[in-house]
Amino acid sequence: MTLTRITDRVTLIQLPLPLEGLTSVNCYVLRGDSEAVLVDPGWSSPETERALLDGLGELGLGPADIGRVLTTHHHWDHYTQAITWQGKHGIPVHLGRGDAPSIEAWHSLDGAFPRQVGLLRRAGAHGLAAEVEAMPAEVHEQDMDFDLPAGWIDDGAEIDLGGLVVRAHATPGHTRGHVCFEVVGEDLLLSGDHVLPRITPSIAYEREPSEDSLTSYLGSLRLVADLPGARLLPAHGAIGDSAAQRAKELIAHHDERLDVIRSLVVSGHATAHDIAAAMTWTRRERRLDDLDLVHRMTAVLEVAAHLTVLTHDGIVARTTDEGVAQYAAM
Ligand SMILES: [Zn+2]
Repeated sequence: MTLTRITDRVTLIQLPLPLEGLTSVNCYVLRGDSEAVLVDPGWSSPETERALLDGLGELGLGPADIGRVLTTHHHWDHYTQAITWQGKHGIPVHLGRGDAPSIEAWHSLDGAFPRQVGLLRRAGAHGLAAEVEAMPAEVHEQDMDFDLPAGWIDDGAEIDLGGLVVRAHATPGHTRGHVCFEVVGEDLLLSGDHVLPRITPSIAYEREPSEDSLTSYLGSLRLVADLPGARLLPAHGAIGDSAAQRAKELIAHHDERLDVIRSLVVSGHATAHDIAAAMTWTRRERRLDDLDLVHRMTAVLEVAAHLTVLTHDGIVARTTDEGVAQYAAM
């Protein structure tokens, strides 16, 4: 557990994660005159609980002092400890309303990535679709505390903590209901996984993904790009000086990707799968077939999302052949 005081009222508690690659999540404690809240208190586990209690203890707080928990989205590493404490201590959890369908789909759909299987077939990735369909739900995702939040957050909602106001900005893309929290008057943006300092956030990694996640995501990046002056307080990695600057870098990254994908359509690659196989992935420039199964899936679906944007912009044309989307240059 590492504690970082950002302002008099805002403190970061770094919490451990049981994941390879992503080893910690940033939980923020916001203290107003009348209420203290947590934002994204991590992955439900005894290790998280211990680190949280230690961090809160250093601030002279305990679970009984927390009025509510705000969460940026429903992914395990942000949301599940919140649900554990909602049950254990009665602290109400609040989450962006757009995440409701993906939470409900944990009860109504089976398998690890049920909707993605159909999207992969549509992308022309039949072998990959069969592999994903055969995948069991991850062991560490079973028996996890997972439930609906006590309250839903809508775009523009203001949460008054007494001398400290938190404004919610709906930032769909990473998930449909993703929310960033602006600490009004302190020039801070708690960006969740929408804007991360080093990583390019994945989009539509959820059980009920939106058809047009990249359009949503790019719109949400432009929203942050228009918040000049806000420091970046991400859910993973180091704090940055400018959320807007990082949002602009991510927009530029996707513009480059759109350009590469458009060129591949022009040179005759007709499906999202063909295009993904012709591209390189990760900062190590790996081939699609060298990635693990989940990353192969997200790569193909990311190309499909870019192709949807290019189609809407009138840059490529889409037809469907035996259920597979085929693209051609306009
Ligand atoms: Zn995360």
